[in-house]
Amino acid sequence: MKRETIAVHGGYETDPTTKSVAVPIYQTVAYEFDSADHGAALFNLEASGYRYSRISNPTTQVLERRVAALEGGLDALCVASGQAALNYAILNLAEMGSNIVSVPQLYGTTYTLFAHILPSQGITVRFAESDQPDAMEKLIDGKTRAIYCESVGNPAGNICDIEALAAIGQRHGVPLVVDNTVATPVMLRPIEYGADIIVHSLTKFMGGHGTTLGGAIVDSGRFPWKAHADRFPMFSTPDASYHGMVYTDHFGDAAYIARCRSVYQRTTGAVISPLSSFLLLQGIESVALRVERHVDNARRVADFLRADPRVAWVNYAGFADNPYNALAHKYFGGRACSLMTFGIVGGLEGGKRFYDALKLFKRLVNLGDSKSLACHPASTTHRQMSAQEQAKAGVLPETIRLSIGIEHIDDIIADLDQALAAAQTRRSPLLAAE
Ligand SMILES: *Cc1c(COP(=O)(O)O)cnc(C)c1O
Repeated sequence: MKRETIAVHGGYETDPTTKSVAVPIYQTVAYEFDSADHGAALFNLEASGYRYSRISNPTTQVLERRVAALEGGLDALCVASGQAALNYAILNLAEMGSNIVSVPQLYGTTYTLFAHILPSQGITVRFAESDQPDAMEKLIDGKTRAIYCESVGNPAGNICDIEALAAIGQRHGVPLVVDNTVATPVMLRPIEYGADIIVHSLTKFMGGHGTTLGGAIVDSGRFPWKAHADRFPMFSTPDASYHGMVYTDHFGDAAYIARCRSVYQRTTGAVISPLSSFLLLQGIESVALRVERHVDNARRVADFLRADPRVAWVNYAGFADNPYNALAHKYFGGRACSLMTFGIVGGLEGGKRFYDALKLFKRLVNLGDSKSLACHPASTTHRQMSAQEQAKAGVLPETIRLSIGIEHIDDIIADLDQALAAAQTRRSPLLAAE
């Protein structure tokens, strides 16, 4: 099936008991065993079925199958948030004493996880100087367990050369983990270019309505864990935490997600609720339509901002002179995502006046909502970073990040126009109060 069709139908067959057409919300903690033997068979993973919703749930399983199919992967685990997804994705590969190699352009909280939290657990994160493949490759050594990037960096808007990074991973026997939140599988399926593991904040474009947190880990099923058992012994040697389970023997190509579920979700429990899974499924049904509209509107906004003398710069990969335009052609057919950054004439103070004058655009930290959104990263998402770290992540003091919604383009541009005008003429209430 094509992605538009998977988004509507993927992972669900009409419930045999009720014939419910909508995916039912299985709001239950546990599932009854037929007998002691049936319970034991479920715990031995010999029988398929459900035991307890910290491990799996039928509503969430539809979401997992749908997201896996959208990404062209073998299997998925859906969890409580995007952060939980990427934390589990890394912990399932890296242990104390090992390292991962990452691009510097990251979502702010991911940067904090990588720069501070993982190192406190003995996992080193080696940040490359840039997202260029050679800058990444030279940091890989015998203890590297993952190469990490965002297919489109938030908020830097850089586009990573997934194919080149995957080739490096293959050369060294290291999986490529890609955060595909900003691009979405509507725009890009990194697995088709060789990526091994995909992580998502379903909170953003996938859910699409700014109502529900969720995350996903998708496995391509292609990384040869057994062939690289020296680097990744956890998949092909007995697991003491699960009565001697050998994941590659029991689950074959699906070993990665099975271990993530049986070890990390089972013992640390960042579970997504069945209601959240249902709401995200509702959103995903229209993701292909919405992303088309987001992307078309964004092009119009980028053209408008660039032509306006009140705007100092616009970072939008769809422009021919953008450093990532060649990759936009390679991966997105010359289009660009609906996330963009810009700076207005007047620097930080002008940017604040513009921001405070917005009426239709919501001032917040979120992206991928059907509504148009504006964020000032330096004071919010990237606030924990030094100015130097911010610059590496693609954040200047005046940077405004826009996530262009699906409203009528005339209304979106009218709001930007009036806020640009207001930024020229009046002081923001925020500044007046200071
Ligand atoms: C929002 C976001 C996350 C975190 O997702 P949550 O669902 O908010 O935990 C991770 N990566 C990227 C690129 C994001 O935009």
